[in-house]
Amino acid sequence: MVANPPRTQPSDNKILATDSQELNKFTQRHIGINADELQQMLEVLGFSSLDALIDQTVPQAIRFNQTLQLPAAQSEYAALAKLKQIADKNQVYRSFIGMGYYDCITPAVIQRNILENPGWYTAYTPYQPEIAQGRLEALLNFQTMIIDLTGLEIANASLLDEATAAAEAMSMSYGICKNKANSFFVSHECHPQTIDVLQTRAKPLGINIIIADHQTFDFAEPIFGAILQYPASDGTIYDYRNFIEKSHTQGALVTVAADPLSLTLLTPPGEFGADIAVGSTQRFGIPLGFGGPHAAYFATKEEYKRLVPGRIVGVSKDVHGKPAYRLALQTREQHIRRDKATSNICTAQVLLAVMASMYAVYHGPDGLKEIAQNIHQLTATLANGLKKLGYKITSENFFDTLRVELGNTRLEAILDAANERNINLRIFDNATVGISLDETTTESDLIELWQIFALKDQLPFTVEEVTITNYQFSRESKYLTHPVFNRYHSETELLRYLHQLETKDLSLTTSMIPLGSCTMKLNATSEMIPVTWAEFGKIHPFAPISQTRGYQILFQQLEAWLGEITGFAGISLQPNAGSQGEYSGLLVIHEYHQSRGEGYRNICLIPQSAHGTNPASAVMCGMQVVGVGCDDQGNIDVDDLKAKAEKHSHELAALMVTYPSTHGVFEEAIQDICAIVHAHGGQVYMDGANMNAQVGICRPGDIGADVCHLNLHKTFCIPHGGGGPGMGPIGVASHLVPFLPGHSVVRMGGELGAVSAAPWGSASILVISWMYIIMMGADGLTQATKIAILNANYIAKKLESYYPVLYQGKNGLVAHECILDLRSLKKSAQIEIDDVAKRLMDYGFHAPTVSWPVAGTIMVEPTESESKQELDRFCDALIAIREEVAAIESGKMDIQDNVLKNAPHTAESLIVGEWNHPYSREQAAYPAPWNKEYKFWPSVGRIDAAFGDRNFVCSCLPMEAYS
Ligand SMILES: *Cc1c(COP(=O)(O)O)cnc(C)c1O
Repeated sequence: MVANPPRTQPSDNKILATDSQELNKFTQRHIGINADELQQMLEVLGFSSLDALIDQTVPQAIRFNQTLQLPAAQSEYAALAKLKQIADKNQVYRSFIGMGYYDCITPAVIQRNILENPGWYTAYTPYQPEIAQGRLEALLNFQTMIIDLTGLEIANASLLDEATAAAEAMSMSYGICKNKANSFFVSHECHPQTIDVLQTRAKPLGINIIIADHQTFDFAEPIFGAILQYPASDGTIYDYRNFIEKSHTQGALVTVAADPLSLTLLTPPGEFGADIAVGSTQRFGIPLGFGGPHAAYFATKEEYKRLVPGRIVGVSKDVHGKPAYRLALQTREQHIRRDKATSNICTAQVLLAVMASMYAVYHGPDGLKEIAQNIHQLTATLANGLKKLGYKITSENFFDTLRVELGNTRLEAILDAANERNINLRIFDNATVGISLDETTTESDLIELWQIFALKDQLPFTVEEVTITNYQFSRESKYLTHPVFNRYHSETELLRYLHQLETKDLSLTTSMIPLGSCTMKLNATSEMIPVTWAEFGKIHPFAPISQTRGYQILFQQLEAWLGEITGFAGISLQPNAGSQGEYSGLLVIHEYHQSRGEGYRNICLIPQSAHGTNPASAVMCGMQVVGVGCDDQGNIDVDDLKAKAEKHSHELAALMVTYPSTHGVFEEAIQDICAIVHAHGGQVYMDGANMNAQVGICRPGDIGADVCHLNLHKTFCIPHGGGGPGMGPIGVASHLVPFLPGHSVVRMGGELGAVSAAPWGSASILVISWMYIIMMGADGLTQATKIAILNANYIAKKLESYYPVLYQGKNGLVAHECILDLRSLKKSAQIEIDDVAKRLMDYGFHAPTVSWPVAGTIMVEPTESESKQELDRFCDALIAIREEVAAIESGKMDIQDNVLKNAPHTAESLIVGEWNHPYSREQAAYPAPWNKEYKFWPSVGRIDAAFGDRNFVCSCLPMEAYS
C-alpha cells in the first residue's frame, strides 16, 4: 500500500558540511533534505555518516581531499548585490551594429509569463509527449512560422545559433549532393562569424571553402553547396535566382541565411529556389544578451526530412483519435544513429523558440509586417538624410542596414561622435561604417545618427524634409494565416493561451523529474533574476570590449571557478551545449596532435555505453570511431581497451569517457584507463555530463582527463528550458590551452576557429551558474554532490527489492543515479518500459530516462534538490506500479486491458461513454493518495508515434482537425 505522504514537517534541522561547519542558508534551501532526514536515510543505507557513504562510493585514489578555492558562500541577497555591482560595469549603448543581432522589444506578457516563468523554463526536452503538449504546440507554431516566412516545406524546432545552423546546412548538403565535389561556396557577404564557424566545421571534414562574390563566381570549380546571406551582411538585397539556377545545374544545394523579419516584406527563399534556409529568430523578442541564447531556425524541402539536424515536432494522434504532438522521425537523431549521424545536436533552444513563436502570436502577420515596414521606412529616411549630408550609401536595395561610405570624413571623428552619444556603429573598414536599425529605433535616433555624421548638432534639414514614405517590396504570398497567429491579440486572450499551454506540461513546478544523466535540479529564482537585467540583456555581442567590463569580470571569475572545480588550466565558454563542447574539445585535441606533427591521429575510442552525441561529435571532427566493450558490471572492459589502444596505437587520437560512467558507477579503473590512452599518445576526453557526482570530491583534471565539457544546464543550474538553452564550456589541461576556440570578430582564445556565432556563447545565462557557485561556496557545492549521491543510493536501496539495480560499484553502491532493470516484466506480464513510463504520469510524475543507456531499463537521477518526502513519494509510485504489474502476473488483472497499457488516463477518457475496463476510474486516475490533493492531468492519451511518422506533418493543423 502507498502510505500517505507526511505533511511538511516543522523543522529547523540544519544540514552541516562537517560536524562544526554550518552550511549557509541558500545551500540549505538548495539541498532538499534536512539533518534529521539525512540521518534517517543513512540508517536505511546502513551508514553512520555521509562521509562514510562517500568513502565507500568514490575510489580513494581519485579523491580530492582539499577544499575548493572558491569565494566564501554568499546569501541570495548579497550575491545579487555583488552581481549588480559587476553588471553596472557594463555600459548599455544603443547598438546599430547589426551582423545578425538586433535590439528588439520583448513583449512584457511574454517576458513575465515565459522567460521568467519556471512553469516554462524548468521543463525538460519533450520526450514524454503526453505531458508536454504545451511546449510541443508552441514549437509547432514556431515551425509553422518558419515555414510560412521562408516559403519552404518543413522546419525544425530550433538550432543553437545562425552560424551553427549554417554549418549544419553545409553538412546536410554534403550528404545529399551526388556530384562528388568537395567545395562549398560561401558568399563573402555572409556575416563574418558565420564564415568563421563554417571554416572550423569544414576543415576536419576535408571540405574546401570558397569565399567569393556570388555575382562573379564562375563555377569553374565544382561545388556541392553554397550559402548566401539575405539581405547580405552589408544590407544589400540581391536577386539570387541566377546564382541558384547555376548551382542547381551542377547538382549543388543552395542555403540562404535569411533574416526572418525581412521575409515579411521580401520574396522568401523558398520562392526563389533555395533548398535550405537558416537564420536567427533573435529579433523576434529575444534580448541580445551579449550573444545569446537565441533560437536559430532551419527549413528545407520535405524530401530531406530524414536528414534534417535537430528535432522536429510532428503531429500524430492519441489512442482516442485526438490530434497530438510529439517529436517526429526520432530515428534521425544522434542518439540512435551514433557514428552514422551527420549532426550531434541534442539540447537546442526550445525556450527561445517558444518565445519567438509567441512574439509572432502576439503581433500576428499584420503586426510583424508593420514592424518591418517601420524599420524599413526609418532606414530609407536615414539613408536620404545621410545623402543630403554628402555621404554615399553602397547599395540602393536594402531593408534595415546601410553601409555608409565616409568619403573625406575620418572614421575616428565619426566613432568619437557616436561614442559621445552612447551609440555603436559597425566598422567595416577605414572608409565605411554600417548602421542597422531595429524595432526600438525612433525618429530621435535618426536625428542623433545624422548629427553624428554631420559632426555637429545643427542639421541642414528637418525630419519631414527627408522622410521617405513610398517604398515597395516584393513579397506577395501570405504568411501566418493560421488562426493561432490571429486570435490572441488581446492580452487577456494571450495570457490565457500561454497559461493553458504551460499547464499542459509537467515541469519542476509539479514534481521531481528524475531523468538520469540530465540532472534536473533546482533552478533557484535568485539565479534566474539577473538574466533579464538590462545590463546583461541589452548588450550586442560585438559591442566594444570597453563597454563590457562587467561581462569580462563575470567570465574571468566563472572561468577561474570552473577551472578550480575541474582541475583544468583553461576554460572556453564558447560552446552552446554539451554536444558543442564535445565537438570543440575533440577539435582542440586534433589541433594539438597536428601541432606535434601527428595530425594523422584520427581514431577515437568510445565505450558502447556512451551517449550518442559522443560518436556523432567524433565523426564531425573527421575521426573514426572504434567501440570499446563493457563488462558485466557495466565498467569499461580494460582488456578490450588495451587491445584496441595497442592495435591503433599509431593513429590513436582520443578516448571519450563519461565519469562516473553512464551506468551510474564510479569506475575504479579510471586512472588506469587514462594511463593506457596516454601511453599510446592519445588524449582523454571526459564527457562531463555527470559532473554533479564529482564537484568537490574529485576532479577530471586530477583523474587524468585532458579535456572535459560541463553541461551548465545540468550541474550548474541553468534550467533546461524544455529542451534548451544550455551551455557546454570546456576545460582543458595546460598543454591544450593554446588550441582553444577563437573568434574572427573579437580577439580571444587560441588557434581553433569559432565553434559558435557569439564569442562567449550564450553569455547572458552564465549569470545563473555564477550565482549558483557563489551562493553555495566550496562547502555547499561539495555537500550538494554528496547528497546527490546519497539520494541516488537511497532510491536504489528502497527500490531494489522491486526492481533489480542493474549496475553497482564494488561496495554495492551507485553514484548519483541508478539504473533499474524492468526487462523481466515483459516476460512476466507483457509490460514494456513505456507502459511504466506512461503510468507514472497518472501518479503525477515524469518518467526517468527510459531505455538509455540500456534498453528496457530506467535510469533515475534524483539530484540533491529533492526532499525526502518527494523521494519517498516517487519510490511509492514505482512500488505501487510494481504491485499493479504483480496483479497482471497473477492473473488478477487483464493482460491487455489494464492500468499500465491504457496509461496515461486523461480526464476526458474517464467521463466519455461507458466505462468498461476491468479496473475503476479511481484506480485509473487517482492511484495514489496525493492525487486527491493535487492531480496533474495529461492532456492527451497514449500517442501513436508511428502514425505521425507515416503521415508526416510538421506545421499547424487546420482548425477543423480539432473538432
Ligand atoms: C546531456 C548529455 C550530453 C549532451 O549534452 P547537450 O547539452 O544536450 O548537447 C552528452 N553526454 C551525456 C552523457 C549527457 O547526459
